[in-house]
Amino acid sequence: MTEREQVPMDVVFVGAGPANLAAALHLKNQIKLHNEMVEKGLKFGKAVDDLEIAIVEKGPAVGAHILSGAVMDPRAIRELMPDFLGEGCPVDSVVTEDAFWYLTEKKGINSPIIPPPLKNKGKYVVSLSRVCEWLAEKCEAAGVNIFPEFPATEVLYDENDAVIGVRTGDKGIDKDGKRKPNFEPGVDILAKVTVLGEGSRGSLTKQLTARVGLDKDSEAQVFSLGVKELWEVPAGNFPEGKVVHTLGFPSDTRTYGGGWIYGLKNNMVSIGYVTGLDYEDPMIDPHAEFQKFKTHPMVAGVLSGGKMVKYGAKTINTGGWNTMPKLYADGVLLVGECAAFLNGQRIKGIHLAMKSGMLAAETIVTAFEHQDFSSQVLRQFDEKVFNSWIYDELHPVRNFHAAFQSGRWPALVNTGLQFVTGGMAWGFMPKQHHIPGYERMQQLAGRDVSGTFGPTDHVKLERYEDVAFDKNLTFDKVTDVFHAGVSHDEDQPCHLHVLDTEICATRCVEEYGNPCQRFCPAAVYEMEENPKSGRRELKVNFSNCVHCKTCDIADPYQIINWVTPEGGGGPSYNGM
Ligand code: SF4
Repeated sequence: MTEREQVPMDVVFVGAGPANLAAALHLKNQIKLHNEMVEKGLKFGKAVDDLEIAIVEKGPAVGAHILSGAVMDPRAIRELMPDFLGEGCPVDSVVTEDAFWYLTEKKGINSPIIPPPLKNKGKYVVSLSRVCEWLAEKCEAAGVNIFPEFPATEVLYDENDAVIGVRTGDKGIDKDGKRKPNFEPGVDILAKVTVLGEGSRGSLTKQLTARVGLDKDSEAQVFSLGVKELWEVPAGNFPEGKVVHTLGFPSDTRTYGGGWIYGLKNNMVSIGYVTGLDYEDPMIDPHAEFQKFKTHPMVAGVLSGGKMVKYGAKTINTGGWNTMPKLYADGVLLVGECAAFLNGQRIKGIHLAMKSGMLAAETIVTAFEHQDFSSQVLRQFDEKVFNSWIYDELHPVRNFHAAFQSGRWPALVNTGLQFVTGGMAWGFMPKQHHIPGYERMQQLAGRDVSGTFGPTDHVKLERYEDVAFDKNLTFDKVTDVFHAGVSHDEDQPCHLHVLDTEICATRCVEEYGNPCQRFCPAAVYEMEENPKSGRRELKVNFSNCVHCKTCDIADPYQIINWVTPEGGGGPSYNGM
């Protein structure tokens, strides 16, 4: 039995993303405000002692594992810090021009009308990684303890299933599970309130949800995968502050997808493509969809003569309001994207993540005032969300993504109808609930896909035969992953737990053609000939992993479990 240090805290936040950083800072501010008001007799109640607050983060530094497009709606950050620009928030550019392109295979229409959800003039193009680094500095200045390289691996419970903190990962375990000379056991961080803000498909959120059934009254979550590159382009190719969103090519009409191009300072361009992880064709490869997107003449023109400098991939929760789980249980709150705070129609979540964190912070002040950390008090978080602008924004678009599961054209009709019905569009059409993406993947049913396997030979796929992967405009996964700056110590246990590899070598070959080789955007999964058994078996190149969680989400047999690797390992998205 490993002896572990116990570190007592009042509140522990898991994940240093926008939701938790905003929450921790707001918590410090709200305690001060609450105590001042109580002291002046402006508020009835008791003062709250200053709290010991910890944020644990699996990356080597705050921001290293943070990836987004990103255009930031400043609504939440303005509430958190009215003079956020004066305080040094590192925005890159102000959006000066919006465009919406509908792309066919060779042509495109620059739409004269911008769909209202995609109007971004006056908002800010940011590197979310930089914004988080800056927020972390503000948190530390306010007295918040931030612990990078501390991945939380387990939720700790008391005998009544109330959450009492988290355990962090051991360091110095070799690939066979044995202790190395530098072995250091993880610690138990005990807290009266634990806040999970782990981002999309959080691994602790998954554990907690399964244990206490947080999702029993919500619809199944659906996810999308965003694949992004940062390019430096010749002056004049694409103006700073211009924001383009696209629909159409290369997604087929049964697959949810769309692209973005954002103009940054110094001739930098953020470009990416989102593919719904509820696609039907198991031969789809979201990374290759993005590469194909770049070959469209209108897009290739933007990148012409330029150079790709960074790469990343991240899943997003696109299900929206109807997929939001219960946001609290005894001793715990869920904030940000792991709790579905993302507007899939606007493809925006930073402001919702921050606001959810701020409302969680206000709930925590009440919990400490009453010294009650049970659901009885923490349920106020749910009420605060319901009574906030989060509800006003997300509820009217609650059916947006579900409609895409019927295909692009019914979805666009639905999107239009939402505006006149306040989100009731499905009242006019057959009611449809979200179906988990892994259930929508179709079996090959005898379709011949021979010669199309493997992460590096996906160019042979019929769907992507026009893509050159020339390392100039289009890149194979291995080259792209190199630009994600990924590093993991190879002498550690694999953090991708494939629960039954026999399925991979038998059923999955026949039924789906091993789609993990295609849906993983980092060439982690590979079916390799085993000379001994004479069959192709799964090889997991875990050191390439960019922590996007796609495999945990999209595997049709649900036998891949992503767990945190040793602290500090993973991509390096600083500045992305
Ligand atoms: Fe993403 Fe899974 Fe591939 Fe890692 S192994 S990059 S989490 S799909």
